[in-house]
This record gives sequence, structure tokens and C-alpha cells, in this order.
Amino acid sequence: MAKLTFFGAAGTVTGSKYLVEASGKRLLVDCGLFQGEKELRLRNWAALPISPATIDWVVLTHAHIDHTGYLPRLVSAGFRGPIYANPATCELTRMLLLDSAHIQEEDAEYAEHKGSSKHSPALPLYTVEEAQEALTRLHEIPRSDPFRISPEFSVRGFDAGHILGSSSLELTITENNRTITVVFSGDIGRYDQPILNDPRTPPRADYLLCESTYGDRDHPSGSVSDQLAEVINRVVKRGGSLVIPGFAVGRIQTLLYLLRQLELAGRIPQLPTYVDSPMAITATELYLSHREDHSPEFERIEQETGDPLDLRHVHMARSVEESKQINRVASCVILSASGMATGGRVLHHLERRLPDARNAVLLVGFQAAGTRGRSLADGAKTVRIYGADVPVRAEIIEMNQLSAHAGQSELLRWLNGFESPPKQSWLVHGEPPGLNALAGLVRQRERWKVAIAQYAQTVDLQ
Ligand SMILES: [Zn+2]
Repeated sequence: MAKLTFFGAAGTVTGSKYLVEASGKRLLVDCGLFQGEKELRLRNWAALPISPATIDWVVLTHAHIDHTGYLPRLVSAGFRGPIYANPATCELTRMLLLDSAHIQEEDAEYAEHKGSSKHSPALPLYTVEEAQEALTRLHEIPRSDPFRISPEFSVRGFDAGHILGSSSLELTITENNRTITVVFSGDIGRYDQPILNDPRTPPRADYLLCESTYGDRDHPSGSVSDQLAEVINRVVKRGGSLVIPGFAVGRIQTLLYLLRQLELAGRIPQLPTYVDSPMAITATELYLSHREDHSPEFERIEQETGDPLDLRHVHMARSVEESKQINRVASCVILSASGMATGGRVLHHLERRLPDARNAVLLVGFQAAGTRGRSLADGAKTVRIYGADVPVRAEIIEMNQLSAHAGQSELLRWLNGFESPPKQSWLVHGEPPGLNALAGLVRQRERWKVAIAQYAQTVDLQ
């Protein structure tokens, strides 16, 4: 009998890892890093409860580090099989895993410097070399056609609308001439968003694992375009600049699209716009080149205007020199990573633009406690950047509509897309409030059998 074990994203939103076993073969769906609380992060250092050498294949729902960031550890601990993902996910994973490895190495150096590591020299969770080794195991599979992994396992991807390449996976397991279907929702995105296709629910599932990140709430309503136009016109009028700390994958591309549409509609002046993040520039190129993920609307605009992200007019600052030149521009829009202002080139722009009341900083994503982004959102009078206290006189604006995750009603809409109720569903990838609220709703409204997945719990799939 086939079995499923939750090795991550159970009771929490990171560390996605689901092991499926059938006919003595083992398939791991996602291989994510735990992030956030120290207790969770320590799990990244502990050995997996099963030997990675006994896992035959890995398949990925999307490229985010909380779904892929454990791959180098898996490979260095003995995993020797292929890692399957669609073409866009393979490319984004290459970029994000190498970046993650750089961060691990920097963290280790910092710990060594501060003497706060138990090891001497301090060890990174994995090195760039180990990440490169893991990346040699990536194999492309079709975006949406079924792919046969082995006689036991076949997988098919459905657009999830969360980031480029993101998929819900329908896994078909054949054992003793019986076939069952397990659907892994992956991270579900939002409907009617720029660029990407809407999330698509697979037609049926015997068993379902569904994410619950926003299981307890909806995103604020209101037009992002209207708010963006209002902010830009206000800032331009007083001769200032707008700095947007953005997440390199997804958020920055959405903003470029919205800015371009506002310009075309004559609702904002054409301003010098800079993307100052090498990773965001690469991600933008990938967003444009993977047409299989584009919504019909995006394709239509591309045909009409030729350039929906306005790359001919937007300045891409790849080198440090190009980045520094932005300092000389008086009134402009600067999109730069990181999204919570914890690091990256955006710090230079904040250091320079925060003290001037004509400028504004637009915070477009979740700002975790303890980050500079959170301090700015909370109205701090100064923030510490490169060892100095920088006065905050610029206007600080929060815009929370741009989440890449489905809100509660969008999750319910996605769940409603199944032709018939799954035999059993498990909620994963959520904190307790989201998990409990969504479980309650699904039980009450849909009358489905639903449980909240527990860490390291094994269940039978029959
Ligand atoms: Zn994600």
C-alpha cells in the first residue's frame, strides 16, 4: 500500500517535503528549507529521518527556497536521483539556490567573525559548490503534459499562478494494478493577476494536500493601480523619488507591468525607472521568455504594445557602477531587492533617499518582525544602515494587495474546482490560525474529510 509522510510544511509555512512510497520506491515532492523561528531552522541541520540515498526521485512544485532550498543538503547526504521540474522552475531554481548558498556562506562568515558559532571555522548549511552539485541533477519535465517518472509514478502540472513556473501537481500512483491520484496544491496564487495564468484546479483527487497560508483571511481589496498612480503623482509633484524594496521574483515584474499600463493610459508621467537588482533583472527576463505561463491578457498586450514590462525604457542596473549612477537622478522610481530591506542594493537607496521628505518608500510585501521594512512600516524615526542611524523623513506607504498567495476566498474557489470531493484532504503550509480556519470552512461548507498534517506523520494511501 502506498504511503505518504509529511517531512515539512506541517503546522508551519516552510520546509515543504512530502515523501511518497509505493512498490518499494520513494518519491519526494518538494525539498524546502525551514525558515523563521530558530527551532524550525535547526531542522535544516538535523539529518532527515530517512536516508536521502534511499530516495529515488524528487519533483518540485515551484522554485521558492522553502520548496527547494534543502536540495543541496539532500544531495550531499547521498541522494543520487533526478530532480524533476518544468523548464521555468528549473531556471528559477538555479538562480535562487545559488543565491541561497551565497547567503549561507555569508552567514557562516558572519558567525565566525562574531564567534557565535559552535563550529570553528563556522560551517555554512551548504556551500555554493554543493548547490552547484545539486543543480546538476535538475531535469526538465513538460509544463502541463503528463510525465511518467517510473511504472509506479506519473506526474502532471497545473498552473498555480503563484510565481513563474509554479504548479499544482497531480501524482498518479500505480501499484498492484490499482491507480490512485494525489494532488499537491503547491503554493496557490491569485486569480485575475497581471502576467501569469490563473490557478487551475486539477479535475479530481483521491487524496489532496492543500496549502493554507492565508486560510484565515482575505487580502485588502481596492485597486493597486489606483493607489500606485496616486502615490507616484504625489511624489512627482513634490520633486521626489519613489523607492520600492521588492522581492526579485514576482513582485518586481508585477510592479513593472502596472507602471507600464499606468503610463500607457496617461495616468502617470513617464519617469526614469530603474531595476537595481541583478537577480530581479534575470527573473524579469525569465518572466518574459516563458510564454507558456503568460495569461491570454498579457499575450494580447504584448502583441499590441510589444513590450508589456517596458524593458526598452526601464533601466536595468546590473553592475555596481550602473547602480551608483542612479544616485544622480533627482526624480525617479527605483525597484530594488530585498523586499524587507534586510540586505541588497536597496539599502544604498534607502540610505540616500530616506532623509529627504520629498521622497517616498513603498512597502509592497509582508514585512517580518525585526526587519528594517517592519521598522519603517511601524513609523521608526531612524533606521540603522551600514552602522549609522539614518533619519526617516520620506513618506512611508504600505501596500498589501500584491501578495503572491491566494487569500481565503481564493483558496475556497480553487478547492471548489474539483469535480468530486477527495476521499481525504490534509491541510499543509500554514500557521495554526490559517490551518484551523480553513479546516473549519472546508468541513462545514464542503463537508469534506479534512485533517491538519502533523510533522513526520505517515498516512496510508489506499
Ligand atoms: Zn512559494
